Amino acid sequence: MSTFKELGLNQDLLNAIADLGFEQPSEVQQKAIPVLLEEERDLVALAQTGTGKTAAFGFPMLQKINVDSRTTQGLILSPTRELCLQITNELKLYGKYCQGLNVVAIYGGSSITEQAKQIKRGAQIIVATPGRMKDMISRKLVDISKIEYSVLDEADEMLNMGFYEDMTEILSHTPADKSTWLFSATMPKEVAAIAKDFMFNPIEITVGNKNESTSNVSHEYYLVNARDRYLALKRLADANPDIFSVVFCRTKRDTQKVAEKLVEDGYSAGALHGDLSQNQRDLVMKAFRNKQIQMLVATDVAARGIDVDDVTHVINYQLPDEIETYTHRSGRTGRAGKTGVSMVIVSKSEVRKIKSIERIIKKQFDKKEIPSGMEIVEVQLMSLAKKIHTTETNHEIDQYLGSINELFKDTDKDELIKKFFSVEFNRFFNYYDKSKDLSVEDYGGSDRDRGDNKSSNDTRYFINVGRKDGYDWMKLKDFLKEQLELGRDDVFKVDVKDSFSFFNTEKSQQEKVLNFFTDFKFEGRFVNVEVSENRGGGGRRDRGRGKGGKRSGGGERRSSRRSDSQPKNERRSRRSDSSDNRSERRSNRSGSDRPRRSRRK
Ligand code: ADP
Ligand code: MG
Repeated sequence: MSTFKELGLNQDLLNAIADLGFEQPSEVQQKAIPVLLEEERDLVALAQTGTGKTAAFGFPMLQKINVDSRTTQGLILSPTRELCLQITNELKLYGKYCQGLNVVAIYGGSSITEQAKQIKRGAQIIVATPGRMKDMISRKLVDISKIEYSVLDEADEMLNMGFYEDMTEILSHTPADKSTWLFSATMPKEVAAIAKDFMFNPIEITVGNKNESTSNVSHEYYLVNARDRYLALKRLADANPDIFSVVFCRTKRDTQKVAEKLVEDGYSAGALHGDLSQNQRDLVMKAFRNKQIQMLVATDVAARGIDVDDVTHVINYQLPDEIETYTHRSGRTGRAGKTGVSMVIVSKSEVRKIKSIERIIKKQFDKKEIPSGMEIVEVQLMSLAKKIHTTETNHEIDQYLGSINELFKDTDKDELIKKFFSVEFNRFFNYYDKSKDLSVEDYGGSDRDRGDNKSSNDTRYFINVGRKDGYDWMKLKDFLKEQLELGRDDVFKVDVKDSFSFFNTEKSQQEKVLNFFTDFKFEGRFVNVEVSENRGGGGRRDRGRGKGGKRSGGGERRSSRRSDSQPKNERRSRRSDSSDNRSERRSNRSGSDRPRRSRRK
């Protein structure tokens, strides 16, 4: 292990490093810095997020550029605005003793004239997103014809985001004899192709897969029915009262939807995706950094490179399309020497992807069960107990102690504790009491994967309308939901045939459904619904037997709609557990929700 000094860094940088409190160079820094300082050549470095790549290229670049010149000498391309700003800030910190240094960030969604003005003042280093950079080149607002060093940071992600052409275009404006340093967490074919096209005989550096950051992360997966995904997410959150997490969804739409639902259900959540304005994104990130948001629901692109150190859990609400992306996701936790958990909620149809991911991360997943309602109740109760135990006593209460004591003079201590806890606790308990088991059995990825026709709590129905009547599955689902006044997930496995169709509901809805459709006429004709003997989608055979003998036994499952209405006040009051002033704001917020809560009762 060398020190930063032994790697060859100059005193200005060493002073900044001392200020930053970096004690040891990280592995990628160990490997990259000496080569980049000593030689003018290309480099490909593979290292996961959180391994200190910014400094690995930043220190050598800062040492090699000439700060007395105003010419742009270094160009760093990065996939997102957030990363771009992050790198710029880091470089400014690293170069704080480099007199005359000017690092400028170029990114979309912010005034181009302002950015051009900053460039004009003389920027030795430009950190840019490809889109805006290309724009500025075509408007002749930047000159990168004399750069000596170019960095492609998070190259795999830039390619994922479709920046290949922009990158090619940008690099065509740079001198052929510059050095190019490519950094990437993964090495898909496309990145290898870039290395081949744009680089000359690069040195390759790979930082061990089990670098410090990822070995701190354990990986878990939870197998559920696809329609229970959201409920499973809530349970995972409820089972971890101090969760501080990034929740990944596949699309912007799902990201927004999940975040909205969480907020509706009383969680402190926020959405981060590309359809938000820059301003909205900044606000969300700020709230997340300040821990006012416990669950940041994000797309891969938007969350890329987010550098927040204390993330306790990464939750893969859906697996990414490209399984390589998983490493980026899990790299959001287990940073800065802390441990983290990366959880995956999977349905049976996706469970075999877990195996492929295991091959990529070279680690095993633990298969876990979604905590049962009663397990969560216990966790919550103990969390509440601890909170009470550590709460600082407010002595303003002393003056009322007399009357309070009078009121409780006949209540013994145990009874008093129970009553006291019940105030906060009943709603949670009532919510989870008799809740159904969400975990489903793993069939080991066999072809039985497809039909989850094993679920014992469903009823499958026949209905005498079909395509001929103008229905497709969505229309029929909407029709049923509307007529039956059911929630969005209460009608499922809708299968429309020509002149009839099938659908499922929870068995607990069966009576309601059948009663409703007795003598039911719609647009002049009788609509007939019967319990189906069709084995394809329903679970009637298994009637009455909860799988695995779990608590599902006597448990009448609530309808998803009702289940979705989280016991709000527990979530909310939990937010006010810390004693800083933020918690005040939080409990105020919770206060404003009270009417909504009581209406629910
Ligand atoms: P990457 O680009 O590989 O995801 P970053 O360069 O963003 O990682 O670094 C992650 C975090 O680690 C940053 O907060 C950075 O300041 C910090 N860091 C970088 N190098 C060191 C080091 N040698 N010692 C301690 N912390 C470091
Ligand atoms: Mg980085």
